[in-house]
Amino acid sequence: MSKNADVTEFVALTPSAKVKAARHGWRAKCLQRLIRLDMPVPETLSLPVETVRAIAAGVMPDTAAMVAHFGEDFLVSVRSSPGNPEWGGPGTVLNVGMNDAMHRKLADSHGQEAADALYLRFVQSYAVHVARLDPDMFDAGPGPGALNEALAAFETEMEAPFPQDAARQLAEVLRSMARAWEGTTARLLREAKGAPPDAALGLLVQRMALGVGPGVCGSGTMQFVDSVTGMPRIMGRFRGQSQGRAAAQDTFFLTRDPRGGALEELAPAVFEELRHYGAICRKRLREEMQIEFTVEGGRVAVIDAVRVARSSRAAVKIAVALAEDEVISREDALLRVEPRALSELLHYQVDPRGPRDRFAIGIAASPGAAVGRIVFSATAAQASAARGEPCVLVRRETGPEDIRGMHAAVAVLTERGGMTSHAAVIARGLGLPCIVGCSDVQISWRDRSLRGPGGRMFHEGDQITVDGTNGEVLVGAAEMLEPALDDGFRTLLRWAETVCDIGIRANADTPDDARTARMFDADGIGLCRTEHMFFDEDRLTVMREMIFADTANDRRVALERLLPMQKADFSALFDIMAGQPVCIRLFDPPLHEFLPHDREGLRDLAEALGRPLSEVTRRVEALSEFNPMLGMRGVRLGVTVPEIYDMQARAIFEATVEASRRGAPVVPEVMIPLVSAAREVEIVKTRIDAVAAAVRTEMKADFAYRLGVMVETPRAALRAGEIAEHAHFLSFGTNDLTQMTYGLSRDDAGRFMSAYVNQHVYAEDPFHILDVEGVGELLLMGASRGKAARSDVTISVCGEHGGNPESIAFCRAAGFDYVSCSPFRVPVARLAAAHFAL
Ligand code: PEP
Ligand code: MG
Repeated sequence: MSKNADVTEFVALTPSAKVKAARHGWRAKCLQRLIRLDMPVPETLSLPVETVRAIAAGVMPDTAAMVAHFGEDFLVSVRSSPGNPEWGGPGTVLNVGMNDAMHRKLADSHGQEAADALYLRFVQSYAVHVARLDPDMFDAGPGPGALNEALAAFETEMEAPFPQDAARQLAEVLRSMARAWEGTTARLLREAKGAPPDAALGLLVQRMALGVGPGVCGSGTMQFVDSVTGMPRIMGRFRGQSQGRAAAQDTFFLTRDPRGGALEELAPAVFEELRHYGAICRKRLREEMQIEFTVEGGRVAVIDAVRVARSSRAAVKIAVALAEDEVISREDALLRVEPRALSELLHYQVDPRGPRDRFAIGIAASPGAAVGRIVFSATAAQASAARGEPCVLVRRETGPEDIRGMHAAVAVLTERGGMTSHAAVIARGLGLPCIVGCSDVQISWRDRSLRGPGGRMFHEGDQITVDGTNGEVLVGAAEMLEPALDDGFRTLLRWAETVCDIGIRANADTPDDARTARMFDADGIGLCRTEHMFFDEDRLTVMREMIFADTANDRRVALERLLPMQKADFSALFDIMAGQPVCIRLFDPPLHEFLPHDREGLRDLAEALGRPLSEVTRRVEALSEFNPMLGMRGVRLGVTVPEIYDMQARAIFEATVEASRRGAPVVPEVMIPLVSAAREVEIVKTRIDAVAAAVRTEMKADFAYRLGVMVETPRAALRAGEIAEHAHFLSFGTNDLTQMTYGLSRDDAGRFMSAYVNQHVYAEDPFHILDVEGVGELLLMGASRGKAARSDVTISVCGEHGGNPESIAFCRAAGFDYVSCSPFRVPVARLAAAHFAL
């Protein structure tokens, strides 16, 4: 506010008045636009922010002058005009200016009943919102005697008759609204919606369009697209002989309706006129608007227009349609869709219009929603799927034995875990709704039950809904919305691709993942976790045999069985990706993930391996580690048991030769995990080069391949310079890098993460949003050291952060070549990257 601003100023909204949203609020600005478009907006005065602040502080503008401005028959509404429509604001007060004289006059012109209803409504809202009297005393509906009773109640409570002076009424209404905005509750509510502490409110004084009286009268709202689907459709409500938004709820429809009373039939000309205004709004305000209107004696007044509220799928449809109709540019259309909203389109969602009975909340680890019956084991999940009954797999946490159960289930719920725990990573890869770290529930394995907060019990077979989009577990079968991978979605993705200036690859382990990646136009596979290729039951057994082998010969036999499986896997990926880059990470098993955890599992394994239980138990004990995440993982296995990587390299290269013989040449990328020293890379590279040379000779074919290193230990980031000397590319595995930088277990952090975030120890869960200050510094350091040593080294991120918009912004700004994320997150990542590029 300038020093000399007149704190009692108000201006008439005319086409030429100086009205800025920052000073008069968005509603004033919007109404002025409607006026400029020649719409029949009732005469309106706008009180700017500083006037409203002064009113709250006790300095009142000249309300008598306002009354005089409107002239005889003063009857107005007062509406709030906050800086941003999201912030809310005090509710509209209608019929200010009603008094005994006006009441008599209106009884003559509009009929007794209409006049009584208008006066009653004002007395009620004045009593409750201005005089702050008990609402229970003023909640009677219109009817004989209601008005006199309300006037008498007011007089008794206030010890004075209802105020008759219009200027005083207006002053009191303005004061109560200005003060309501300053109240603590209102302040907290709007701050929760992102309003700044000094959020501003303007107020509007608008001549009433009555909506009651002789002829076609009433009020309503009208919009021209469906808020849920975004498809063109006239929607809204109209109620004859009514005023205000609330009156139009749950009443008659606008368009022809079997129940009758629709505006389209009642007053076709009015209906057409409103349609015309809708079309003008769309074209000139460049947005789908909902019009609030009043009809008085067949004459339309446009009271307000607001952006149509919309679901994510509607937002995409609307933005694309506006751009296709050349109302907005394609760039605008891209910017109008929130990237995160896209993930809602890829999956079933709980219909926001339906009822919701929530019984627990956890970490929303994989989006989408599904309804199923509770099962507590992978076996039960498979049995349920075999019966054709959708089920939700509920586990304390998951491991490889649960993968088959996860495939069979429609959703997963775990008591423990965080954003990068096993269940979360696998579920995101499968596109399965998943909630982890749901410490609200206690699972009792023994009696196959689930106890929610407040002692609510659920048993195996009970139906629940998992809403992985917001982490809520709901009782029973919630109503669902189908995925919306429609033309609008595809068009938007195509537009995003044309502006996106960082590569978006997918983390894909299986042919299904790869197909999903292709469907979303990923720029290749950035991470194929080969150990995930062994989670199917038949392969898991061979894999375990290989892990259990204690002689070189046993291991060779197991590896020979694995080789053709791997080769077929890679061939399938190469075929599906059709020449796009495919980055295959050599085996990185946290070995414990492949070992059985209980007696039953040990017995199964002994049976599968044909060895005595005692021997299997001993071997499991010998292999078990105190801290498996920091144990025999990744390249450490490659260095100590090199035959495994040899087998994988051979499978990759043989598949490469065969692909090129099929006419689909590919340059595979081979990636070494969990490196912490350049020497590890040297050792592995020597062996892989040797395998490549052998395959070239045996198959009499030449091929190229690129060898790269995953930077996922802090030391690898620090020593990226010397590591890059042996690597074509460096890919930051930010899951492990976050784990090791913080010294924070990615599987256990879920237990205390919310306490840490709530107390602002961490701004966000660092497994979810890249910690740009700490882990980010390692990324920058690693990238610059790598590039200094080898200027053409490709730099990327393939941890879960690759799909997170904030983290993508960081990688793009740091000049990374690409990010790689779960296939289902590719669209979100693509749109986010496009936003940053625009
Ligand atoms: C990582 O650590 O970031 C990574 C991508 O590998 P994984 O999640 O398989 O450990
Ligand atoms: Mg890792």
